Amino acid sequence: MNTIGHFINGEIVNDDQRTQPVYNPATGETQRQVALASRATVERAIAAAEAAFPAWRETPPLKRAQVMFRYKQLLEQHAEEICGLITDEHGKVLDDAMGELMRGIEVVEYACGAPELLKGEYSKSVGPAIDSWSEFQPLGVVVGITPFNFPVMVPMWMFPMAIICGNTFILKPSERDPSAALRIAELLQQAGLPDGVFNLVNGDKEAVDTLLNDPRVQAASFVGSTMVAEYIYHTGTAAGKRVQALGGAKNHAVVMPDADLDNAVNALMGAAYGSCGERCMAISVVVCVGDTVADAVVGGLAEKLAHLKVGPGRESGSEMGPLVTAQHLRKVRGYVDRGLDEGAELVVDGRGQRVEGHAEGFFLGGCLFDRVTPEMSIYRDEIFGPVLCVVRVENLQQAMTLIDNHEYGNGTCIFTRDGEAARFFSDHIRVGMVGVNIPLPVPVAYHSFGGWKRSLFGDLHAYGPDAVRFYTRRKTITQRWPSASVREGSSYAFPTL
Ligand code: NAD
Repeated sequence: MNTIGHFINGEIVNDDQRTQPVYNPATGETQRQVALASRATVERAIAAAEAAFPAWRETPPLKRAQVMFRYKQLLEQHAEEICGLITDEHGKVLDDAMGELMRGIEVVEYACGAPELLKGEYSKSVGPAIDSWSEFQPLGVVVGITPFNFPVMVPMWMFPMAIICGNTFILKPSERDPSAALRIAELLQQAGLPDGVFNLVNGDKEAVDTLLNDPRVQAASFVGSTMVAEYIYHTGTAAGKRVQALGGAKNHAVVMPDADLDNAVNALMGAAYGSCGERCMAISVVVCVGDTVADAVVGGLAEKLAHLKVGPGRESGSEMGPLVTAQHLRKVRGYVDRGLDEGAELVVDGRGQRVEGHAEGFFLGGCLFDRVTPEMSIYRDEIFGPVLCVVRVENLQQAMTLIDNHEYGNGTCIFTRDGEAARFFSDHIRVGMVGVNIPLPVPVAYHSFGGWKRSLFGDLHAYGPDAVRFYTRRKTITQRWPSASVREGSSYAFPTL
């Protein structure tokens, strides 16, 4: 069976002993193995990245950007192939995979602006014949550790920006769907990136811990579950590194009595069940203001769920694919069982979902719970599956208190026609990304992505302007070139103008 290796210093490396199966979630079959990097393999990648850093640091930003321009073209040329790899290992439907790739390419496009982004700040005459400027210098070797749910987009939130800032990079993608990341690594080489500037190691905790503890690694970007994000943040910062660790989510959508309910129901279907609910921005709770709204929303969602086409991601017409692994399917089903035990009303039960010819696939139909209350585990925990919870409240203030009290604060949205309510909500809600009649308010590449509360550990968000700050260190230089005739005496007072 084919074993997926690592990409180190421009070469595929495949001599690790430990491996793990990679499944096709639509069939349940093991289709490949992935190598799990030992400490020695990871150290080889770090050494390659460190060796490549001095020359890459000196490469002019315009030259770095030119690599990104070529990379964008290659990604577009190979889009179908990349999306096929995503679907075969993650399970999501092909057009969803294409959406993911396109959002990743947008970060590459932003990174093409490297010369502009790295111009720095300049002040002439801060004192007599004194000029001052701040420049943004690369950190050195930086790493990215990424989750299974966006095997291409989330790595691309990180490495294009890290690389154009002059760093060298090591990616540790998810071991559950690693092939697409390896393919986009090869394309970087084809785009002309010098060997060693980008490296990829597959693996698990052993690889991650090696990266976090090695003194040659300067910074780590992480995206994944909150438990691991918190661990990465504490371990990395204790080892003296700069760390941004994006964690889990429980995103609420508020539906106000004046909302366009047909529009809200349509939007909620995609936001809750798209990608089988395996998105950190998925809507997993609908907060209905008033029973009339709740009855209409629940009725509308139930009707649409009856027609949701669940099937293999590669089959045209499929709207929702399988979950990523059998283990994850068991976990999500377990939450549906628990929701019933806890007293929620299961309006639509997806546990009986069958997909013809795919009896062993990891499929679960869309599930809808009504009358969910805040103490239930299906409300508190991130389920990361096609399970939507409806909570009924009486007014906007109750909805906002509910959201503010949740441990996560990644995304949220409000459906309303009332501008005043929307403005109040977006101004005060304690959540990092807010949509108004937009269910998945994922920021575009020239803004930055990140949640609040326990959805993000660290100060800076991912991609966009924050990425330039995260992947560089500010240096401020103050210089004077006095004319040769001017001679100054010593001064023992603190310098002022
Ligand atoms: P995960 O936390 O299990 O894994 C993420 C990465 O961490 C993987 O590369 C994995 O190999 C590594 N890892 C796992 N356990 C580890 C450990 N004990 N020590 C060190 N490294 C470890 O997450 P996942 O299941 O792959 O992805 C889903 C999660 O990611 C969800 O919680 C989702 O909300 C979150 N996510 C968040 C965002 C965001 O932007 N906030 C985006 C996408 C996904």
